[in-house]
Amino acid sequence: MNPQTAQKKTKIAIIGICLCFLSGSLGYVQYMRTQSENDSVQYLDNAAAQLQNTMIKQIDGDFQTLEALAIVLGETGINDAERMIAILETINNQNQFVRMGYADLSGNADLVDIRSNHHLKKQVGREPFFQQTVREGRSLSNPQLDEKQEWMGSYGMLIKNNDGEPTGVLIAENLMDVYSSILDAPLLNGEGYSLLVDETGAVLMRPHHEPQARKQTLAELGQFTDKTRDTLRNWLTEGHAGSLRYRSFTGQPAIAQLVPLGVNRWYLFCAVPTAALHKNYDKTSLGMTLVITLAAMIFLLLMEWQNRSMQANQKALETLAYQDPLTQEGNFASFQKDVPALLKSGCTVWYCDIKKFKYFNDLFGYEQGDALLRDFSAVVKASLEKDELFCRVSGDNFAGLLQTLDPQRLAAWFNQLLVQLDQQLNEHSALVHLELCMGFFPVCEDDLTLSVNEMVNRANIAHRSVKDQPGNQFAFFTPQLRAQTLRESELEAQAKKALARGEFELYVQGKVNIQQDCRIVGGECLARWIHPEKGLIPPDQFIPLFEHNGMITQLDRLMFEKACAWLHAYLKEGRPPINLAVNVSRLDLFQDDFLDWYTAVKQRYAIPDGLLELEFTESVMLKDDQIFLHVVEELRRRGFICSLDDFGSGYSSLNILKNLPIQVLKLDILFFRQSVDIGRERIIIRNILTMAHELQMKTIAEGVETAEQVEFLKAAGCDIVQGYVYFKPMPLASFDQVLREELDHPQNCQTREAAVGSRR
Ligand code: C2E
Ligand code: CA
Ligand code: CA
Repeated sequence: MNPQTAQKKTKIAIIGICLCFLSGSLGYVQYMRTQSENDSVQYLDNAAAQLQNTMIKQIDGDFQTLEALAIVLGETGINDAERMIAILETINNQNQFVRMGYADLSGNADLVDIRSNHHLKKQVGREPFFQQTVREGRSLSNPQLDEKQEWMGSYGMLIKNNDGEPTGVLIAENLMDVYSSILDAPLLNGEGYSLLVDETGAVLMRPHHEPQARKQTLAELGQFTDKTRDTLRNWLTEGHAGSLRYRSFTGQPAIAQLVPLGVNRWYLFCAVPTAALHKNYDKTSLGMTLVITLAAMIFLLLMEWQNRSMQANQKALETLAYQDPLTQEGNFASFQKDVPALLKSGCTVWYCDIKKFKYFNDLFGYEQGDALLRDFSAVVKASLEKDELFCRVSGDNFAGLLQTLDPQRLAAWFNQLLVQLDQQLNEHSALVHLELCMGFFPVCEDDLTLSVNEMVNRANIAHRSVKDQPGNQFAFFTPQLRAQTLRESELEAQAKKALARGEFELYVQGKVNIQQDCRIVGGECLARWIHPEKGLIPPDQFIPLFEHNGMITQLDRLMFEKACAWLHAYLKEGRPPINLAVNVSRLDLFQDDFLDWYTAVKQRYAIPDGLLELEFTESVMLKDDQIFLHVVEELRRRGFICSLDDFGSGYSSLNILKNLPIQVLKLDILFFRQSVDIGRERIIIRNILTMAHELQMKTIAEGVETAEQVEFLKAAGCDIVQGYVYFKPMPLASFDQVLREELDHPQNCQTREAAVGSRR
């Protein structure tokens, strides 16, 4: 999964979690709200029950008062109204009734008003409360407006004589205000109100403070749905208690509790706006909701912040992982990552390094070296076209991809790179002539299955094949090159065992002094690997490997020891002293025990001074020439002869010879043979020889293959010739044999020349 999709998924998951958390929390808040509503309904229920109690107490109290009075009146046996009123007038002052009176059984009533002492007569025979009293013994009427526009309630109590027969009805009227006052009791801190209603839903009494309730029926109080209206009607007719919901006229949801009073099929209707029930809880839940939403938002913000910082981190990591800190361009890892998308058959992978870069670094310092790499990187970058890439692999090694297979275009690109590099490095190139060495691996259809690593590796193989050749070089990868590389790595793997098994043998190539009768004056020791399967392996196939893996030191010392052992035995036989030269690699020269080890072996085999010669290639002087100077001086002091090998093949100039205390200068004629003009070549050789002699050095010409060359060298003053013209390198035993034969039949220049001639 790519990082973007993963990030998207994480984001969705986080938002999902947040939403779940939010909805869960809000659900909980809602649940708590319902819970609190249930509590409120319970509260309403209790409040209604309390009100009912108070109401019943009031009514019961009134009835009890009247009942006591009716008993007293019944016992007196008085039947005429006038006397009855007289009694009532006195009693009336002692209770709260506004009017009291007496009616005979046909409903002719005499009443006396306590407040005004006013007497009035009334026919109540047809009034329901009177009829109910006669029927049931007591009753209370619905409130009615009296002449003074005051709401009055009429009580009736049957008066019975001592025989228990009804004799009349005691009537008491009271201002219904008493009930209004009871209803006035605050409901839910005054948010609600209570009404007294009858079974039809008609409002009988309302609290003083409730103007909304000044409607005639419950149905007019608010907006009931058909269903609630039916429910209400049913409850009212069946004397049912319960709570129901409706909306007030202002549209506010409300909840009401209906409680039968137990008197006259009256009901208490206690109503509260739902909002009031939740008032407290709503504040809390609003707070909770806000807190929860805030928490969710903070959480989201934190996640987003973390997400962003993670992205930034990832970017920084990617830069670290995929950017070359020096050139600010992609590194090898990014090259490996990006190349597969651009690969197709018909492109070329290249690998190159800047020759003598290390030398440049030493000369100008690392800062300049870094600047050079940056400049080179810029030149390469500018040379690329669409879908082409490059990277710095390490040090001064670069690799890249070009979208062409055409050798001519590749060569042109390489040359153009050289030109641009030259312009870019103007100031430096005057001092150090930098050169480019490049390998190309053309990618064909079949190669597309190879890894990027393997392709770069193949370009590198091609690059290595020309690395040691002078000048700007490029080469193409071939299967032969690969086979060679495989062989090399195979050899490298076997080399250690081979050393232990003694598979290396010493060969010697004789040296002939052409100025002194062509006598053999010595020989150069050359290593040969006698492989059990592959047979004789020449040094150019393993010396570079050994130099690379450090085994060259062991090999040099092995050859030196073999040479000393042979020379020791040779001299012991009393044969004439002879010079033996061994090769010493640069690596060996810089070992701490170099001087001591060679001296110790020379002493162990008791080799006299002046017979052992150590050959150093001129490359050892490039760096650390002071160390080399010291080593040569020390070796000379200890009886060694020091020679400079392959002079003229590399970078050295004649100039360096003047300070170098070496005794022998070896010139490799093969190098000179590369030049076209033989005349010029000979001038140079002649001059080198002259100068060497002036510096008291012996001269050896190597790689001499023809008698003409010998003739020229002799005339030019060269001392010794080492070449196929006289001897090829041969096993030590053969060399020993050659020397023995020489001793018996000494040769001179004529005979040797004749021998050469016959070999031709
Ligand atoms: P070198 O030291 O310059 O040795 C001379 C090389 O030139 C030898 O090659 C020799 O066979 C070859 N040669 C001599 N005369 C002629 C000639 O007339 N014509 C031609 N074409 N070649 C001639 P060889 O033995 O293959 O050695 C190659 C190089 O390997 C040596 O070059 C030397 O640098 C290195 N080498 C050989 N043995 C050792 C060793 O024991 N230690 C070290 N460090 N290097 C060694
Ligand atoms: Ca040599
Ligand atoms: Ca040489």
